[in-house]
Amino acid sequence: MRLLRVACNAALLALLTCAVIAEDFGYGGREGPAHWGESFKRCSGKHQSPINIDALQVVPRRFREFQIHGLERVPRDIKLTNNGHTVLVNMYYNDNMEPHMSNGPLRSDAVHVFEQFHFHWGINDSMGSEDTINNRAYPAELHVVIRSMEYTNFSQALGQDHGIAVFAFFFKITQADNPNYVEFTKKLQFIKRKGESVDLDTPISLGSFISTDVQHYYSYVGSLTTPPCSEAVVWVDFEKPIEISEFQLQFFRQLTASDEHLRNNFRPTQPLNNRTVFRNIPPEPPKPNESENAAGQIARLGIGGLLGLSLLTALELKGRFLVAFN
Ligand SMILES: [Zn+2]
Repeated sequence: MRLLRVACNAALLALLTCAVIAEDFGYGGREGPAHWGESFKRCSGKHQSPINIDALQVVPRRFREFQIHGLERVPRDIKLTNNGHTVLVNMYYNDNMEPHMSNGPLRSDAVHVFEQFHFHWGINDSMGSEDTINNRAYPAELHVVIRSMEYTNFSQALGQDHGIAVFAFFFKITQADNPNYVEFTKKLQFIKRKGESVDLDTPISLGSFISTDVQHYYSYVGSLTTPPCSEAVVWVDFEKPIEISEFQLQFFRQLTASDEHLRNNFRPTQPLNNRTVFRNIPPEPPKPNESENAAGQIARLGIGGLLGLSLLTALELKGRFLVAFN
């Protein structure tokens, strides 16, 4: 009887160990990206991320302008967690005030809501980003993960087509510190080990962490870059990098995971296969002459004329809209 119980416990222990191994992943050796597909089938899919973006092969397309609300809102709390794979950043907002995004290359009938952001970085400045541009990597990359509001939570959206999108921002090294990352990078000293978390003393907006030029970007459909590597993820790679100093980036490189330095937490680029990468054509800025002429006409025409002019302008805009999107 006792022998049987010991055997059962041993079997249970073996099962538990298997489960832990199956759910974990890393960036080197037996747990590295080359082996992810053994435990996570979708990591062997045909439409995976990251990719190399060849600027000569991209297809220009004028997407609808992004509608992004709430980038300036300051959350009540920002929590940084070393989860052994990255610095995961959760922002807690009052009264459902999370930032919302729609349009651009996102599916036209779906509003997306901010979920979290996190980072990928290298051991030195020659590597770190996941997507590369013309085979060139940036020293780090920030991923803002957003979820279609058709799905009530992240895990539900994960397995669905177009349930998840990622806004990706590259980093470039500058001499001066980025003032918006001063407290953030200092706090990384308190989460050097896997499983540790820390709150920022002074929460700041999501917009403070990213670059705000949302008109120049590449877009393609890929996957999560970590297991379970779910596909049908809309990627938006913004061209304008975030600035960060070498001093600030060093704080990321000092983090550890399972007693080893957490560095080079990027997946190698995956085959593009039959996918198209688009480059957004930003809207043309209004010509100064046009607005001056309009102002002059309004002054001359008075209120009655103004109504007529509004109608004409609306028709003209509608015409432009049709030209742009057909
Ligand atoms: Zn990521």
